Amino acid sequence: MKKYFAGVILFFVVHKGYSQPVQRPKLVVGIVVDQMRWDFLYRFDNRYSASGGFKRLMNKGFNCNNTLINYTPTYTACGHAGIYTGSVPSIHGITGNNWYDNEKQQYVYCTDDTSVATVGSTTVAGKMSPVNMFTTTICDELKLATNLRSKVIGISLKDRGGILAAGHSANAAYWYDSKTGDWITSSHYMKELPGWVNDFNKQKLVDKYYMQGWNTLYPVNTYTQSTPDENKYEANILGKGFPYTLSSLAGKNYNPIVATPFGNTLTTQFSKAAIEQEQLGEDSITDFLAISYSSTDYVGHSFGPNSIEAEDTYLRLDMELAELLDYLDSKVGKYQYLFFLSADHGAAHNSKFLKDNKIPAGNIDVSKWIGNMNTALKEKYKEPNLVISIINFQVVLNLPVIEANSKLNLDEIKAWVVQFLSKQEAISNVFSMDQLQTTVLDSTIKKMIANGYYKKRSGQIQLVYKPQWMEGFETGTTHGLWNPYDAHIPLIWYGWHIQPGSANRQIYITDIAATLAALLKIQVPNGSIGKVITEIAR
Ligand code: ZN
Ligand code: ZN
Repeated sequence: MKKYFAGVILFFVVHKGYSQPVQRPKLVVGIVVDQMRWDFLYRFDNRYSASGGFKRLMNKGFNCNNTLINYTPTYTACGHAGIYTGSVPSIHGITGNNWYDNEKQQYVYCTDDTSVATVGSTTVAGKMSPVNMFTTTICDELKLATNLRSKVIGISLKDRGGILAAGHSANAAYWYDSKTGDWITSSHYMKELPGWVNDFNKQKLVDKYYMQGWNTLYPVNTYTQSTPDENKYEANILGKGFPYTLSSLAGKNYNPIVATPFGNTLTTQFSKAAIEQEQLGEDSITDFLAISYSSTDYVGHSFGPNSIEAEDTYLRLDMELAELLDYLDSKVGKYQYLFFLSADHGAAHNSKFLKDNKIPAGNIDVSKWIGNMNTALKEKYKEPNLVISIINFQVVLNLPVIEANSKLNLDEIKAWVVQFLSKQEAISNVFSMDQLQTTVLDSTIKKMIANGYYKKRSGQIQLVYKPQWMEGFETGTTHGLWNPYDAHIPLIWYGWHIQPGSANRQIYITDIAATLAALLKIQVPNGSIGKVITEIAR
């Protein structure tokens, strides 16, 4: 009888394929290139190495050429959360890099967590965690799918670039402490840094990069895709122009490295050390390494997307990617790892550069608007500071004061603010958020605004700027708007089970996590609104 049952069970196990484990890659590597415009894949194409970095991904991978962000604001925290949660600020709660909390009545930084401590330095740079994010990331779901046996690590110079990607249950997120030049983490993940991180920090690579300085990879006059150097569109944060001498910073100031390509080099070297030391992709249980290259963003903000500095940074990033892919091939094995590359947002052109070339653009001083509104409102209502802030393209009103004062009417004040702002040259539309549905506005923009709205962490009045109008940044550039230059991002898949190809249909940033879930055969993140990219996961 016993034998009979054993035979039946064996039959079912074999017949239903239970003896075959689910096929998964040994390692997933997610790359976010901070501020990478989609067109950078093609603009510098003739100078990317023939088969190393970007071109290897484009020729051997699957290129989703029309990947768009489906919410505003198009900022770093929302972008990393969007890619990894497959969701939008109205659901995951990350409404900006910073926001004003209407209940606590204070500004909040996206990854601030006062309940944790810095690990790896004595500064406050490590008092960070994903606590403000309400949903799981695809990395959390991988953990849950493997009974927490998968190893998940997030790496980025920016705290938010590593933390919001790796998720709540990650083994680690590491980021850069610009006061000490070291990689650090927080007590959310561990009590002390692993030995290999201490060893890595002891090398003081930043000092070595400073000693080498920054000269262009090729003769400076061959950078024909960019405005000649030392122009009025750039901020002179590193000195006058190429070649930049940085040796005086060594041992003294660890911040400026982030606005050079060598911040990315540091990220690649640290990522390789993590793969090696944490044995990522070595056993049969899938691991996840989420890397974000931040220097592209700092360089873009300082010098603008049409600068030689930006072009040189992308040519060097191409080499970094080639090095990383070669390393993964030798360490994990060709086509044994699943690799994707995307961006958290793009960037506008420098406004003055466009105006000089007869294209409409402008700069906005929001502090002037706030000052003028508060002066006028005080005269009208005898109450100071009724406008607290303009943040994430929304006006934050002083709700507690308005509610407490029976002479003040919220709707009346909102109408006054809308009226005031609608007269400003930069603004194409402005409306109270409770009138979003009745406002006459393109439905795509409306959807993006609704997706970005979380009442407790958002303002009450929404601003829509004319294209290429930006807050501040008379030199360099910025991002954050619905417009294609900010919202159109690269997305390329490569490696494990990826067939070469491309798609031109519209795909959204929130589809990345759903597609990863389909490829890995795991649950989608718990706030995901994304759709599987079926050209990839068939
Ligand atoms: Zn960013
Ligand atoms: Zn940025």
